[in-house]
Amino acid sequence: PVRASREMDRPPVNVSFEFFPPKTEEMEKTLWSSIRRLAPLHPSFVSVTYGAGGSTRERTHATVSRLVKETDLHPAAHLTCVGASRAEIDDVVRAYKDAGVKHIVALRGDPATGVGTKYEPHPEGYPYACDLVEGIRRIGDFEVSVSAYPEKHPESASLDADIDSLKAKVDAGATRAITQFFFENDVYFRYLDKVRARGIDIPILPGLLPVTNFKQASNFATRTGASVPGWLLKRFEGLDDDPETRKLIAAAVAAEQVTDLVDRGVTDIHFYTLNRADLVYAICHLLGLRPDAEPVPQAMAV
Ligand code: FAD
Repeated sequence: PVRASREMDRPPVNVSFEFFPPKTEEMEKTLWSSIRRLAPLHPSFVSVTYGAGGSTRERTHATVSRLVKETDLHPAAHLTCVGASRAEIDDVVRAYKDAGVKHIVALRGDPATGVGTKYEPHPEGYPYACDLVEGIRRIGDFEVSVSAYPEKHPESASLDADIDSLKAKVDAGATRAITQFFFENDVYFRYLDKVRARGIDIPILPGLLPVTNFKQASNFATRTGASVPGWLLKRFEGLDDDPETRKLIAAAVAAEQVTDLVDRGVTDIHFYTLNRADLVYAICHLLGLRPDAEPVPQAMAV
């Protein structure tokens, strides 16, 4: 009863969803069926990633433009500094402005040759995300989100140095940060305390990766510097060939993480959907979100 009454008193939670641009027709169908399922939950925004080295420039643009034209969602286009001059990036930003996009997620990005290779700024490019934020702000009145790393970016010397670079992005005009995924909520709350103590007051949305494929999530974590706690490994132990049980465990793990976040005062959550809707939809339901009665517009059908 205590938990139930706490849930009834809670302010509504705002959610946002991240998607990646599809490579094939099949992936396009999966993406749009996920968008159709999640759209009625009225996310604050939906974001579309930008492939390493700018490899999805056209596909990101096409997906974001379609979201603008065919849905009433608020799309955000990810953009990185990698492999392009300032002039080229400015053209991309202007194209988004012309397409009616009002929100950009500004990132440095990783070398096109992959994570682990040393990052070298393009000789005529924006060197770091803070420079890109400034460039975007010069072009238009965009909402600009940036990354944040509760366990620090792998290339940062320390968490304090990492928070300094978040501060530089905020000073350049970033209005919101979205964190790299994490599995221990204490990591996020400790980070939040440090960020606030540094005088950064923009929203820092926790980015959650609902884990259905533990191996894939561990690989992501290794690449991004996120730690995988032993208890999580234990929960998925022995389930490599048992996708059904894995799905149930995944739901339990994600439910535990989100309910703890909202119980501790979090009001906005960003989901890395990997273009899959089911688990994210279930978690949102658990958070009290319900689809509206309005049918999703036909134009969205692939
Ligand atoms: P920055 O904030 O620029 O920081 C990167 C590193 O450089 C840090 O170690 C920082 O301390 C250091 N640094 C910053 N400024 C300076 C400076 N002036 N001088 C020296 N060092 C400096 N990648 C993609 O390719 N496409 C995406 O769509 C994408 N979306 C993402 C979304 C989110 C929410 C997150 C958390 C990450 C995303 N990434 C994406 C990954 C991101 O591009 C990589 O983590 C990349 O290595 C760093 O980009 P950043 O914007 O975080 O970099």
